[in-house]
Amino acid sequence: MVAVANRYLDEEICVPCHVEGVHHRAQEIMASQGSIIEPAYLSASQHFDNSDHLEAALGYMIPAWGYSRIANPTAGYLEATLAMLEGYGFDGDVSAMVTSSGMSAVFMATQPFLSTEYGADVNFVSSIKVYGGTYQLFSERYAKERSVDVRWVRDSMDITEWEASIDDNTRFLYTEMPSNPGCAISDIEELGRLAERHGLPLIVDSTLASPALMRPLCFGADIVVHSLSKIIGASGMAIAGAVIARHGIRTRVGQEAMAADFATWVKLWPARDFGPSLSPMSALLLLSELRSLRQRADAMSVTALEVARYLAAHPRVSSVTYPGLDDSPHHDVATRLMQLVDSKEPRYGSLLSFEVADGDAATRAVFDRLRMIMRATDLGRVKTVAVIPSISTHQQQGADARDVASIPGSLVRLSVGLEHPEDIINDLGYALEG
Ligand SMILES: *Cc1c(COP(=O)(O)O)cnc(C)c1O
Repeated sequence: MVAVANRYLDEEICVPCHVEGVHHRAQEIMASQGSIIEPAYLSASQHFDNSDHLEAALGYMIPAWGYSRIANPTAGYLEATLAMLEGYGFDGDVSAMVTSSGMSAVFMATQPFLSTEYGADVNFVSSIKVYGGTYQLFSERYAKERSVDVRWVRDSMDITEWEASIDDNTRFLYTEMPSNPGCAISDIEELGRLAERHGLPLIVDSTLASPALMRPLCFGADIVVHSLSKIIGASGMAIAGAVIARHGIRTRVGQEAMAADFATWVKLWPARDFGPSLSPMSALLLLSELRSLRQRADAMSVTALEVARYLAAHPRVSSVTYPGLDDSPHHDVATRLMQLVDSKEPRYGSLLSFEVADGDAATRAVFDRLRMIMRATDLGRVKTVAVIPSISTHQQQGADARDVASIPGSLVRLSVGLEHPEDIINDLGYALEG
């Protein structure tokens, strides 16, 4: 088999995709008719030269993609680009795998650690301030259906609360930075040190920041999760996710190959079997959006700060949560961790939330009066979008869990887009004055 493999390349083990990202750029371009954007390979499967080629490819011995559920060349371009962006400034190798949604990325990043093969008592420690879907996955699918002991941390900045929850059966630490919708801050640098002391992987969902504003691997995270459906795919034409990991992750369980190159291992084995593959069409749309990510993250963050300041001064707004406001909790930590890539400029992202004074009914009235701002359970868009989390994204987790996660009925989540700041402010002003 190795001899056969060597006919196709000089390494024995490789990623099942012939795309090696940026490294062979000129060659790649010429191989695709000189096209200056990546080609779309929509084929579900690959043709093989002969039985040897087929056998070596399906045995993961040579660079091949085989079948689009396992790998696809267009998705491979997206994976290589994401690994490069997320690994920018990180001293080490990084791999990425893309998935059909952000939720399947959260699932793929966490479930390999929960195997009862290594002991039936399984727990993990997570900030409670996580995306509603992640909360449901952890509490319903993992805790209720699989008896995983999910240990919630209420104050994500309190390292002693994290540490007190860790024991011999802990499999990983999980946080979202900043959190959706509360913009809660986690000091992932401190969490990285805590994870290191306990030999645990730190998994960070950094969807809201994106690699343009924060790269958790540089601060000690092992695995980064993204919903690519948000600011990375800002036009809003694709649902997608990514699992990006450094090589040689910390872990107490699992095979050597899993620790060596987690993202590739997940792609070749569990993801092959669970099947959350991304459509190559979506991969292509996302690739083209990635090219303007830095400029978008910059402009949206600058406008979001202006809007946050406007809302903070408005008499009908009782509170504004935005990490960029000087008096916001842990503003200093956010400033240390979130900066526009290749600059020292702090940038805090496009998401903020505010509470309308006078209660839930008044909040709905303000929300219903918005004329330009879209009402949708969406964020990171080029268009400004607002939602009331308690009746939408966070409806299903129930009032008690919403209380703990600080999601009252008067909270409005606002995702600031690329419109002129004055247009956004005027629309909010009109809605609030009604
Ligand atoms: C939206 C979101 C997810 C889930 O992503 P989908 O692409 O909608 O499945 C996960 N984490 C965060 C922080 C999100 O905002």
